[in-house]
Amino acid sequence: MKILIAEDEPSFRRLLEEKLVMWGYDVIAAENGEAALQILQSEDPPRLALLDWMMPGLDGIEVCRRVREAAREPYTYILLLTSQQRDEDLVTGMEAGADDYITKPFKHNELRLRLRAGRRIIELQSELMAARDTFRVKASHDSLTGLLNHEEILRVLGQELARAGREEECVSVIMADIDFFKKINDTYGHLAGDEVLRLTAGRMHFLMRSYDYIGRYGGEEFLIVLPECCGECAASFAERLRLNIESNSLDTPEGVIPVTVSLGVASCKERELDATSLVKVADGALYRAKERGRNRVEVASGGEITT
Ligand code: GH3
Ligand code: MG
Ligand code: MG
Ligand code: MG
Repeated sequence: MKILIAEDEPSFRRLLEEKLVMWGYDVIAAENGEAALQILQSEDPPRLALLDWMMPGLDGIEVCRRVREAAREPYTYILLLTSQQRDEDLVTGMEAGADDYITKPFKHNELRLRLRAGRRIIELQSELMAARDTFRVKASHDSLTGLLNHEEILRVLGQELARAGREEECVSVIMADIDFFKKINDTYGHLAGDEVLRLTAGRMHFLMRSYDYIGRYGGEEFLIVLPECCGECAASFAERLRLNIESNSLDTPEGVIPVTVSLGVASCKERELDATSLVKVADGALYRAKERGRNRVEVASGGEITT
């Protein structure tokens, strides 16, 4: 594990370095606070830091304070080296954000154990961060298709609408619904139905531009958000999706299944439309596509959008 030592006294710095290397640490040494701070603010910094309190220029406390102010992730565990005379100021040291302190002179073994405790905290923190990241993905994605989930795609749409409003840009949405999906489930079974959902989602995702978004809005309904894409652009993209899905039957363990989708398109330019209202308009167009025979694209007219 990488560790930073910041110590202005050369012989003591060398001694520390020797010990830490012996204990298996990958040591980076700094001779003053400025250099230490630079290292701690660099990319992939050491997660353990042993800072001398008394250094000319930036002292250990100031380095500590600035690291905590930046509140970067992952966390840096800071062990402060203090002298006997500094004992009464220790509260200041801990308040600046140090995790622990050790008073010079100290037994080598004590330092070794304190560092081991620091390491354990860092490892726990890494596990916690990994768990948090997994949870974030789970909370925002649909587990079957891997697409954004209902709440997340609506959140993204709201965000894109706000951005488009500021930049006087256009946002379009497409509501896509698999045709006669119930029949697919009934004919091929629920597992094949799941596979159809997964493959259709993957197909649509593949056809999108890198800055478009797609989410699973409901059972077999998908919501696509197209930033900076208006009217004809959105309609022609919807038609491309429709044609691609119609032309490529899906290969599932239960056999090759032909699938079609109906799509409703709605665009919003320079109008104060919120996410739910825009989706409602797209839903209206989708309903019409179903009524008019399915496997088709319907675009909401300007009139539908203003009402
Ligand atoms: P339409 O063409 O009008 O859209 O008809 P449809 O059969 O596709 O629509 P309907 O709303 O009648 O049925 C949707 C079906 O989707 C009903 C439900 O059981 C199924 N479904 C919803 N979520 C899942 C899922 O996660 N997996 C599977 N296999 N089926 C699902
Ligand atoms: Mg010093
Ligand atoms: Mg359907
Ligand atoms: Mg449906």
